[in-house]
Amino acid sequence: MDVAVIGGGPAGTRVARQLADAGFETVIFENRRKIGKPAKCAGLVSPRVVSMTGTDSVIKEGYRAVITPPEGEPLILEAKEPKAYVINRAEFDREMAEKAVDSGAVLELGAKAVDTSFNGKRSVTYRDSGNFKKIEADLVIGADGPNSLMRKKAGLPGPEEMVVGVQAIIGEGSEDIHIFLGKEISPDFFGWELPHPSGTLIGVASSDGDAYDHLKRLVGKRGYLDKIIGYSAGAIPLGRIKNSVENGLMLVGDAACQVKPLSGGGLFPGLLSADICAEVAIDALENDDTSKDNLREYHEKWQKGIGSEISKGMWMRKIFKGITDREMNDMIDALKNEKVKKVVEEVGDIDYPSTLAKSVLKASPKLIKFAGPMIKNIF
Ligand SMILES: Cc1cc2nc3c(=O)[nH]c(=O)nc-3n(C[C@H](O)[C@H](O)[C@H](O)COP(=O)(O)OP(=O)(O)OC[C@H]3O[C@@H](n4cnc5c(N)ncnc54)[C@H](O)[C@@H]3O)c2cc1C
Repeated sequence: MDVAVIGGGPAGTRVARQLADAGFETVIFENRRKIGKPAKCAGLVSPRVVSMTGTDSVIKEGYRAVITPPEGEPLILEAKEPKAYVINRAEFDREMAEKAVDSGAVLELGAKAVDTSFNGKRSVTYRDSGNFKKIEADLVIGADGPNSLMRKKAGLPGPEEMVVGVQAIIGEGSEDIHIFLGKEISPDFFGWELPHPSGTLIGVASSDGDAYDHLKRLVGKRGYLDKIIGYSAGAIPLGRIKNSVENGLMLVGDAACQVKPLSGGGLFPGLLSADICAEVAIDALENDDTSKDNLREYHEKWQKGIGSEISKGMWMRKIFKGITDREMNDMIDALKNEKVKKVVEEVGDIDYPSTLAKSVLKASPKLIKFAGPMIKNIF
């Protein structure tokens, strides 16, 4: 076959659709029996994701966000136009897979890749209903998520840090988008609460191995302990990787750690990189050259764009981790100043937090003390 895409998540199906549209025989191998379920995601995306995909899965337009500091009153941000959208993530994944299939890609469900190697041509071994099968492809797209087997088997570098996100589904509606800050919520990340197709989704991420305990505490604080109707959990890979291609193989999405380090959001960077991946892949297939040297163009292109935002995000994450609860309270207080708040409401961009950081520091130079000497790495 021309192309085997390993993983039927949004990054894989977006690449698959474009390769199928270009006339290449494309097969998606997906481990799960149902696309999108269970959804290991909060579903908070920027307006860019909605316009890039034309998705019909939006369940909430985010004009308002409530940010709760460790102590004190929340900061309430209200923008004139939606700064974020909440999507039904399972529905979103299904839509993306349907588009790939409509373009001619074949979707193999219940097919788990277990190995890959390169002997002049890239091969993948997969297990389907207990049987092992082997295929060869001119090009393999490793879109198999944060714990990518393609990445490991090809000896490509993994994330600098792996954070775990756990979420509880609450069978009761919630209107606002909430962010909860403080070391008790999470020592190195934050908690969230959002509208969900079944009511409310409440989650916490952390890298200390105790994400579930942090979640239980937050759920208790919010008074939802007896209203939990389900859970989901997943890994979030952070950090900029040095290589995402091998002979006959390209990694995309979480497999390539294309994730915003400050928020853990991977949909925008993964989809943006999927388009670059498809463009370079089509060129390589047309020229019959899927060697790692030729595919390297993809790595360099996405590194220049989203890669540098990932580096800035890792620096901002370092600063965030070092901020004490008391400093966090002071910081949120400083953001409540009308002039500074207006800047956040106008410039706020969940895909490019470094742009917002720059504008906020201009409006309130006293916030510079929180960043200290690390600030030079963000600008
Ligand atoms: C708790 C949590 C909350 C999050 N919230 C947000 C959010 O609000 N906004 C946002 O933008 N991002 C969020 N993310 C991140 C986002 O979910 C990911 O960045 C996104 O799913 C990446 O898409 P992907 O296609 O690269 O990988 P995935 O969506 O993980 O898809 C990979 C697919 O590959 C399949 N697969 C894996 N291994 C194999 C194999 N060996 N063989 C065959 N198939 C395989 C999997 O079953 C899966 O379907 C969150 C993540 C977590 C864990």
